[in-house]
Amino acid sequence: MTQDVSLSPIPKTGLAIITGSANWGLAFPEDVGMPGVRVLARDLAFETPYGVSENWKLLEFDASITAEGRTRQALCMYSHGNPRDHIDHSCHRRSFWVLMESGVTHVVACSTVGAVNKAIQPGDMVVNADIIELTQTPYSLLPGRQRFDCSGKQIVCPHCADILAETARAIWPPACRVHGIEQGLVAAHAYGPRLTSPAEALAFRSMGADVINHSIAPEATLSREIGACFVPCAFVTAGFNDYMDRSRGSLLQEDVLPSLSMLASRVALETAARIPSDSACSCSSLKSPQPAERYERY
Ligand SMILES: [Zn+2]
Repeated sequence: MTQDVSLSPIPKTGLAIITGSANWGLAFPEDVGMPGVRVLARDLAFETPYGVSENWKLLEFDASITAEGRTRQALCMYSHGNPRDHIDHSCHRRSFWVLMESGVTHVVACSTVGAVNKAIQPGDMVVNADIIELTQTPYSLLPGRQRFDCSGKQIVCPHCADILAETARAIWPPACRVHGIEQGLVAAHAYGPRLTSPAEALAFRSMGADVINHSIAPEATLSREIGACFVPCAFVTAGFNDYMDRSRGSLLQEDVLPSLSMLASRVALETAARIPSDSACSCSSLKSPQPAERYERY
């Protein structure tokens, strides 16, 4: 109940980690026990114009593990598990308003995916290059109706994606693969929480998707809308044959998640620490102000 929550001022940070199904079953980052990562505060709640946003953690990366050798702070929350007691897809607008106010320039989002490309197997990590979400997000944060143009190109930051893939390849199990952004793979977004039906999986596949993700499009779109770089840290828990097997009620391969959630969590933390605050990419320029006559004259 939000009326009993004590609200905090939004701390200034440059970095955000949005957790998800990739971290299920873990207190993130406490259970990862990664040296150089501290939880400064948890259960933070912030006021936004769209309501209170709860369950935030404030993390600190020690100077010894960051790209620039300086202490950095990051905001962290379990976005599509927030609020905790009911499904509310508008939570992303509150979350990213918090990130915008915080000054976040880089967002790492963790999730699991199902593969509809037969060459991508359970246990693989997929750093997709593009997304499909035909409604975009109904919960836009762009101020004004026509004040900004947001490009749909380079929706995943190539610079952050390379850092993430390099980090993952150093620790990911050798029997599984890390598919980097250079492969040009496409993630379709389905809000859930129901898992994708066999017919939907085929539809997404025929539209050009390689994987299906329940938590990527609002995160990617809202990152663009606040001018931040976005990179997904996602691994596969169901393959094409799992979607198509109508004789089995379950979809996910049950042994994949527990064995890889700790590793994926570590990849996310190491990647966040290694992303420089002034990364050499053009993501922030892909949100551009429009000439005043486009919204002042009508
Ligand atoms: Zn970028």
